[in-house]
Amino acid sequence: MILGIIKEEGSEKRVSIAPDAIAPLSKLGIQQILVEKGAGENASYSDAAYQEQGATILSGEEVIKKANFLVKIQPLNDAQYKLTSAGQILIGQYNPLANTEVVEPLKKAKVTSFSLDLLPRSTRAQAMDVLSSMATVAGYKAVLVAANNLPSFFPMFMTAAGTIRPAKVLVIGAGVAGLQAVSTAKRLGAVVEAFDVRTAAKEEVLSLGAKFVDVEGAVESATAGGYAIEQSEEYKQRQAEAVHNHAMAANVIICTAQVPGRKAPIIIRKETVEAMQPGSVIIDLAASSGGNCAVTQDNKTIIHNGVTVIGDSNLPSSMPKDASAMYGKNILNFIKLFFEKGEFKLNFEDDIIAASCVTHQGEVVSDRLKSSLSAA
Ligand code: NAD
Repeated sequence: MILGIIKEEGSEKRVSIAPDAIAPLSKLGIQQILVEKGAGENASYSDAAYQEQGATILSGEEVIKKANFLVKIQPLNDAQYKLTSAGQILIGQYNPLANTEVVEPLKKAKVTSFSLDLLPRSTRAQAMDVLSSMATVAGYKAVLVAANNLPSFFPMFMTAAGTIRPAKVLVIGAGVAGLQAVSTAKRLGAVVEAFDVRTAAKEEVLSLGAKFVDVEGAVESATAGGYAIEQSEEYKQRQAEAVHNHAMAANVIICTAQVPGRKAPIIIRKETVEAMQPGSVIIDLAASSGGNCAVTQDNKTIIHNGVTVIGDSNLPSSMPKDASAMYGKNILNFIKLFFEKGEFKLNFEDDIIAASCVTHQGEVVSDRLKSSLSAA
């Protein structure tokens, strides 16, 4: 078997597999690893670093034509699809539940494609979970970006020039990114509070030394796989009021609330932003799915009534070296599922393979994607 790593495009700085995963991949039963020239350069990994681990550097065209497994975080572009062949295995992160247009080219190319955002949230899948590892990077970096944009300190300072009060940080959504934001903001000395619709999140927030903002009446579902579900209009109203009151005292708000396959809930209204203290900063990690803040613009930094609102759902790309290393380890663990004692085996009985498979032989495989496509 031959595995190919394709260079990402546009502003994406990560590479799907860093050099440290090359040797372990070779031990699985993959005979050759091909890397597109310059694939890792934006993430500080040279071609030589891949070669030292035993990979071969080729043009993108050659990599696509020769590889059985093709790895690229983003979907292939039209020219790249033309070079693929039926039965080739594509691994990436296509977000097909929201970006349904990615499915047709995969069907047409008759490739066997896997989107790692469809992985089940099970204990066995944890080592492959790119959503969790990238959320860890995003939650951490969001706090640094906020601190950098804030016209004040994060920690308390008692100096001869007076006492500086610590920054107040409100984290909306205490999942993987939110909890990482809570601990990073705490480490920087801020006073932190957070809230979430899942009751399990409360204990985690408190264990990190932050305050939990309780909003009564959230609904949860045991079948949602640990994720949040859409809330009632009445709850949303109550939540918006609670956020309004806490936002007025906050210097920084970090938004991470998402509901899989849906538009992100709007939790900070325009009037809330307008009531915040000038100089405050909102980082909206849910920007690409609509944002948690009503004034967020995806991939833009705006100043609304003196408040800096940063819409950025791809902060992992701004820390590409470690983000790529984590991503590559996730992919290595995923690829292990395709080998049994060094022999390649495509086993759709495996719940992880079945859940994350977008297309096989021109048909959609993931049940979650099938029902989402038929509901659309
Ligand atoms: P996510 O990115 O989908 O959402 C982020 C957070 O926003 C979640 O905690 C969610 O509850 C919250 N949220 C959604 N709507 C909200 C609203 N209206 N108001 C406030 N908060 C809202 O989720 P995530 O961070 O990827 O993970 C969510 C859960 O899944 C966590 O319990 C996490 O521990 C679990 N998880 C399990 C695994 C695994 O077992 N493999 C992997 C990752 C995450």
